[in-house]
Amino acid sequence: MTNDKVYLLTFGCQMNKYDSAMVAGLLRDAGAVFVENAADATLVLINTCSVRAHAEERVYNHLHLLKGRKRHTPGFVLGVMGCMAQKEGEKIAARFPWVDLIVGTRMLDQLPRLLARVRDGAPTPLLAIEEKAEISFGETLARRELRFLSYLSVMRGCNKRCTYCVVPHTRGVEASRPIPEVLAEATRLVDDGVIEITLLGQTIDTYGRDLRDDTTLWKLLRALYPIRGLKRIRFVTSHPRECREELFATMAELGDKAMPFVHMPPQSGSDPILRRMGRGYTRQRYLEVVAAARTLCPEVEFCGDWIVGFSGETEEDFAQSLSLLEEVRFQHGYVFKYSVREGTPAQKLPDDVPAAVKQERHARLAAAQEKISLERNRSRIGVTEEVLAEGPSKSNPRRLTGRTRTHRLIHFPGEAALIGKLAAVKVTGATALSLKGELAGC
Ligand code: SF4
Repeated sequence: MTNDKVYLLTFGCQMNKYDSAMVAGLLRDAGAVFVENAADATLVLINTCSVRAHAEERVYNHLHLLKGRKRHTPGFVLGVMGCMAQKEGEKIAARFPWVDLIVGTRMLDQLPRLLARVRDGAPTPLLAIEEKAEISFGETLARRELRFLSYLSVMRGCNKRCTYCVVPHTRGVEASRPIPEVLAEATRLVDDGVIEITLLGQTIDTYGRDLRDDTTLWKLLRALYPIRGLKRIRFVTSHPRECREELFATMAELGDKAMPFVHMPPQSGSDPILRRMGRGYTRQRYLEVVAAARTLCPEVEFCGDWIVGFSGETEEDFAQSLSLLEEVRFQHGYVFKYSVREGTPAQKLPDDVPAAVKQERHARLAAAQEKISLERNRSRIGVTEEVLAEGPSKSNPRRLTGRTRTHRLIHFPGEAALIGKLAAVKVTGATALSLKGELAGC
C-alpha cells in the first residue's frame, strides 16, 4: 500500500494520456490520492514525450525546478516515465541524479512495485527500461478525467520506420491485444460509466496483424458494438498505407456507434518528400483512401498532421502539401516544423530548410487549413448534431461544451444535468475552431 499524494504530469500524445490514466489507476488501487499541485505532492511523476525537442526541454526544466524540493523534503519521490525514460534513461540518471525512479514505456505496469522498492531504500535512480514484449495492467480501471470518456490501448509499438520518428525506438515493435482482452476492458469501463471509448494504436490499421489469427480493426469494432451502454467508438491513428476499405464499410454499417472521424496524417503532399520520410505511400494513395472512405461512409471527416521543412523540401514540394490539403479539404489539421530527433535515420540527412522558411511555410499551411476549417464548419449551420456534452465551457460557464460525431467542438446553452449525455444540438454559428448551437427543440 502507498499513502502517497501524487502529482502526475503528462506530456505528449493520447497513448501517454492513457498510460498516465492506467498508472494512476494502479496507484489509486494501492491507496494513493491525487493532488492538483506539485507543491502538495509526496510523489511527482512526469510522463514524458520524445517526439519533439520542445517537450523534452520542458521535462528537463521541471526536473531542475524539483531539485531543491527533493533535497529539502524527506520522503519526497520524483519519477520520470514514458518515452524519454525509455530512450534517454541512462542519460537522465547521470544528468539528474536526484531523480528516484526512471520507468520506460514497457515497464509502466510495474510502477507500484518499483515505487515500493524506492521507498524500501533501493539505490536511486532506479532504472527500469527493459523492453519486455507484454505490458499488462490486469483488471485496473483507468483513473479518468471525465467519468464517461476513456482511451483504450489496443496495441503498442510501431513496425514502421518513418525516418524522422523516435516512436519505434521508444515504444518497440507492434504488439496487439487479443479481442477478448480488449472487450473485457471495454466492458469494465462501460460498467464504470464510460459511454465513449477511443481505441489507441500508433498505426491502428495494423491492429491484429501480429496475432496471426485474422484479427482486424473492423472485427474489433464489430465485437465492441453489442456492448450495451457503449454509445460511441473512436480510433486513432490511421496510416494511409494501411487503411482498408473494409474499415469504412464496417463504420458505415455500424453507423450509430462508430464515429466517422479519421485522423490520418499525410505529413507531406510531395512524393519525393514522402519517400525521404520513409512513409511508404504516395500522394495518389492518400487520395484514393480518402475517396474510398467518402464513397463508403459519406459522413466521414479527416484530420491531418503535417511536417513542414523536412530535409530537402523545396518550394515545389511544399506547394504539393498545400494542394493536397486543399484537395482533401480536411476538417482539421496540425502543422509542425521539422526538427531533427537524435537517433532517427533522418539525423543523417541535412536539416537544410532555414528556420525562417519553416516558419513561413508553417504559417501558410496553417492559414490554408484555418480557411477550410471555417468553410467546413459553416456548412454545418442549420444541421442538428448528436453531441456528447463534456462539461461547462471554459469561456462561458453558463454554456456547455461537447463533441459532435465528427469530433467538432461545440458550445451551447444547457443544464449541468446534460453532462455525460448525448444531446441533439442545432448548429447556429461557426468559427474555424468550433461550432455554436442550441438544444434542438428549444
Ligand atoms: S507510423 Fe511512422 S510516424 Fe507513426 S509512429 Fe510509426 S514510425 Fe512514427
